[in-house]
Amino acid sequence: MNNDPLFFVDPNGKELYIFGEDEESRKKAFELLQQFVGEGADRLTLGENGRVLINTEDYKYGSNKALDLLIDIDQAVDAEGNTIKIGFGVSTKEISPEDISANNEVRGGGIVNASVTPRAGVGPDRRPDLPLGYPPGPKPTHGFQGEVTISTHVEWSINGKPIARSQIVGHELSENLYRTRDKLNYWVAHAIANLKFFGGDFRRRISARPIR
Ligand SMILES: [Zn+2]
Repeated sequence: MNNDPLFFVDPNGKELYIFGEDEESRKKAFELLQQFVGEGADRLTLGENGRVLINTEDYKYGSNKALDLLIDIDQAVDAEGNTIKIGFGVSTKEISPEDISANNEVRGGGIVNASVTPRAGVGPDRRPDLPLGYPPGPKPTHGFQGEVTISTHVEWSINGKPIARSQIVGHELSENLYRTRDKLNYWVAHAIANLKFFGGDFRRRISARPIR
């Protein structure tokens, strides 16, 4: 994916963005965010340059965990006071069983979760139990500090029970926030995201299969 100069805006903002290859995929990504929020989705609007605007008027934080997550992302600042921008997009390209067979949510499995923070940690933060040369994970390619892309051609399930795509949104966006804002390593961020959005059992594997 190429960087799109349209999406490099206001370096001082702390914001949530929609990105995408074209108008259609940006629209789909925004609709997926709305599904994720459910009741209260009318608080979201898609502003200029893909920025997601959240109307928090009379909203009681804590009453909708999906909306809370988007507000947290919108206001994210890291420990050093750096602003964090996180982008969300969908991939509308068809995906083959081979593409998906790795079943690795970081790359493959129909999901790309990219962050400026390497997923295994580096230097003193590096997890000693991971082998040398452990892949650092994909880097953002649209100019944000964190980016999540979800395929529209994949279905996920756990023990044969389908997982709604909007639930995947919650898992991936929260994991990305914990990695990018809090610099948590991938495994910790993944476990917390599971507790928040997958009912608490992070030991079970998620399966992904391509759909047309
Ligand atoms: Zn995860």
